Amino acid sequence: MTGGPYRGRGRPPLFDDAARERYLALVASGLTMRDAAAGCPVAPTVVTYTKLHHAEFAAALTAAREKGKRIREDAQPHGESRYNHGGCRCGICRKAATAARAGRRAVPADEPSEVIDMPQLGSRAPLLVLAVAS
Ligand SMILES: [Zn+2]
Repeated sequence: MTGGPYRGRGRPPLFDDAARERYLALVASGLTMRDAAAGCPVAPTVVTYTKLHHAEFAAALTAAREKGKRIREDAQPHGESRYNHGGCRCGICRKAATAARAGRRAVPADEPSEVIDMPQLGSRAPLLVLAVAS
């Protein structure tokens, strides 16, 4: 398949130029590749096939994905998640991440210890530890 005009023989192309343009516009608007395929509608495998066999489409898809990713990241609310995953270092995100870290580090004082007292095992200790582990 060349992606050119349909010549009237055989099965018509599923993912013609118009569908590709529509798909790329959906991806560039921030949809995931799967959701954009569902919106075309075309199977995700057809998109993968086209990407692998048409370098021009692959380049356009890469650009559309980067644009869509930026749109999705900008839509994410400021907070700890955006600090950790989006790399945002604004005041809101810093404050949220600092508060969340402090909350995770704080350990209640009356929490029981996880350390288990082991009896004196002497020279057979490594063998016994292996037996317990298996
Ligand atoms: Zn932020």
